[in-house]
Amino acid sequence: MSLPPRHAAAPQAIELRVRGRVQGVGFRPTVWRYARELGLAGEVLNDADGVLVRVAGSEAAISALILRLQNKPPPLARIDGIEISAFVDALPDEFRVAESAAGRAHTQVAPDAAICAACAEEIVDPFARRYRYAFANCTHCGPRLSIMQAIPYDRTSTTMAPFGLCGACDAEYRDPADRRFRAEAISCHACGPKAALVRLDGRPTSFDQHSMLDDVDAVCGLIQKGEIVAIKGLGGYQLACDAGNAATVGRLRQLKRRDAKPFALMARDLDLIRRYCAVSDEEARQLTGPQAPIVLLRAEGPERLPEAIAPGLATLGFMLPTTPIHLLVLRRMNRPVVMTSGNLSDEPQAIDNADARERLAGIAAYALAHDREIANRIDDSVVRVMDKRARVLRRARGFAPAPIGLPEGFAGSPELLAFGGELKATFCLVKDGEAILSQHQGDLEDGATYYDYLKSLALYRDLFGHAPIALVADRHPEYLSSKLARERARSEMLTLIEAQHHHAHVAACLAENGRSLAAPAVLGIVLDGLGWGNDDSLWGGEFLLADYRRFTRLATFKPVPLPGGSQAAREPWRNLYAHLMAEIGWPAFAMNFSELELHTYLMGRPRATLDAMIKNGINAPRASSCGRLLDAVAAALDICRDRQAYEGEAAARLEAIVDEHALRHEDESLAYPFTMPKLRDCGLPYVEPLAMWHALLGDLILRTPGPVIAARFHKGLAKVIVSMAKKLARQDDGDAIRFDTVALSGGCFQNRILFEEVVRRLGAENFVVLSHAHVPAGDGGLALGQAAIGAAHLIDEDC
Ligand SMILES: [Zn+2]
Ligand SMILES: [Zn+2]
Repeated sequence: MSLPPRHAAAPQAIELRVRGRVQGVGFRPTVWRYARELGLAGEVLNDADGVLVRVAGSEAAISALILRLQNKPPPLARIDGIEISAFVDALPDEFRVAESAAGRAHTQVAPDAAICAACAEEIVDPFARRYRYAFANCTHCGPRLSIMQAIPYDRTSTTMAPFGLCGACDAEYRDPADRRFRAEAISCHACGPKAALVRLDGRPTSFDQHSMLDDVDAVCGLIQKGEIVAIKGLGGYQLACDAGNAATVGRLRQLKRRDAKPFALMARDLDLIRRYCAVSDEEARQLTGPQAPIVLLRAEGPERLPEAIAPGLATLGFMLPTTPIHLLVLRRMNRPVVMTSGNLSDEPQAIDNADARERLAGIAAYALAHDREIANRIDDSVVRVMDKRARVLRRARGFAPAPIGLPEGFAGSPELLAFGGELKATFCLVKDGEAILSQHQGDLEDGATYYDYLKSLALYRDLFGHAPIALVADRHPEYLSSKLARERARSEMLTLIEAQHHHAHVAACLAENGRSLAAPAVLGIVLDGLGWGNDDSLWGGEFLLADYRRFTRLATFKPVPLPGGSQAAREPWRNLYAHLMAEIGWPAFAMNFSELELHTYLMGRPRATLDAMIKNGINAPRASSCGRLLDAVAAALDICRDRQAYEGEAAARLEAIVDEHALRHEDESLAYPFTMPKLRDCGLPYVEPLAMWHALLGDLILRTPGPVIAARFHKGLAKVIVSMAKKLARQDDGDAIRFDTVALSGGCFQNRILFEEVVRRLGAENFVVLSHAHVPAGDGGLALGQAAIGAAHLIDEDC
């Protein structure tokens, strides 16, 4: 960008229009500070489109200001563009922060941010005003979405409204030189919220208060003694206990009725995490960034935690203290702490004190409560570094509701609302060419979660002043989100657009990679559990030639019955049995593999019932699912054979046991073979696992170790996926290339080994590979794809 031509030394006045996330993030005081340092005159103000900077001074100083804003913006800001124009009116000699220009503020809602270094230092400094203050924050950190009740973002529309500012806080709030200038959540010991330790079991408080600094400090002592403590965190209550205490961890599992899902961990600092996990540079960057998510790390280090933290997995999910409360509680803890959501099983976590008292009393004897209300429930986000890039697996605290810019071609989209899927649901608003994806809502089949989803829909509509003309839903007839969208479209007379599940996955991947609306179609490879197909059957391992507007199903996985329907998803042995029957049949299996323990196991199951279901097609829908194939293979290795406690457990454990040496160094010929014949009824090529099963069962006879079998299976699966892509890239009848780009999506690609193997092999075949990083590959990203499909549809209609 260049300045209007003038003589370099001559003073001039210009106006900078700064767009992006520039309000509520300390942008004006930063400009103020830079301008003063550079000796510039003028002013800075907020208006409906962002921030306006009007400056007068030498060209060199103005250039320096622009450069500094671009290179060193405030930590939570995101500059999307700076436009420069000449300014002719008079400007104040002393640079100032002017009042906001009139007009409705552009509705920007910043995500919550982890405590910044400056605030972290203050609360441990005995001479600072906010020493041990559990709610310290500034314009660079602290709560945003979690306390917002309405727009515009000022104190009166947050749950900080009941707390009037004391004189000292008020002075900081008004001083542009202070990092708390216009920090809406500003407070201190004198005027702000207070934390208090309470007993949930009704008994008198018995902890030794005299040896503790305050209630927050007492929590540390209780945790060290083996207690489970409920802590009111940023976006909801959490349950904390000593992660090194196997008995307490076991008790927490039992009381929370959470039998296998891994617990998240929090540790004082990176050094402590490194005692238990390998941490790469990128992983460290994620842990210490303002989003401060849970990062899945490889569990390897000099020390071990009890198996009950993450049963059967080779990873641990760690985060660093995200708020002053967490920092103060963990300060003296020399061991990691379990920091899991404050709920029973799959319910949403408690957010208010009364609810916590009622629901958590049976789990935790104590609660660290406080009197700042949580306006919006927000879970911790989860990130995993795969193929050297951080991939968001659960997008919530720290990430939502930061807008995702839609690619070229989408600028003219009308406002619309996409309702997402059913499990790990999110929803997505389109407004002003941007997609606003909600925080992770959870599984809608849980009543309380569904209620929360409705509440969030209403809140987002208000926060963003959103008036959709169309609603987008998954084609599934039974998803609660789809039913809701259909009902609302009817009652509010809005256009209803239905998006196919796997098409939406591909579109999400295209959108987050900035693929333009006019770009040619790609091959979308979508591997997940189940989604409703266009032929009204269940899909879940799909090769789609797709752009935002349409898709053609080019190939699939073998459709295999799911005996027992949804029960088959919970009980992997059912998929294993269905696979073996579809491929080999009982007589051949019994004849060749009767010496296997697996044979004895299946003999003991109700085979006749399953056979009848499969034969008569009763409660045994066929599904071309990659997820269910992974379940079946896991079950063959006796992983979660009887049942899995959470979606994807069997596949996650199968990934966890992979022998990486075998994966990398064994001869390619040992990878299990798959073939690619065509389906009889429709001629569609499909991934046929018959040869894989023979090789796998043969390895079981040879007593090949499970980790080696798992490695050969992953490698074989990656190979056939890439072979299929190569085969599909060329038209049946000629040499014309159909696509040169492949987009990977679906929950199965959260499996690091499968993902990295597929990416590496596609790269070796010179495909351009698009994958997820900012939104989940699983159903948490679905709503973004639905939104893009809906927008493309509406833009076309308009033409
Ligand atoms: Zn701060
Ligand atoms: Zn104060």
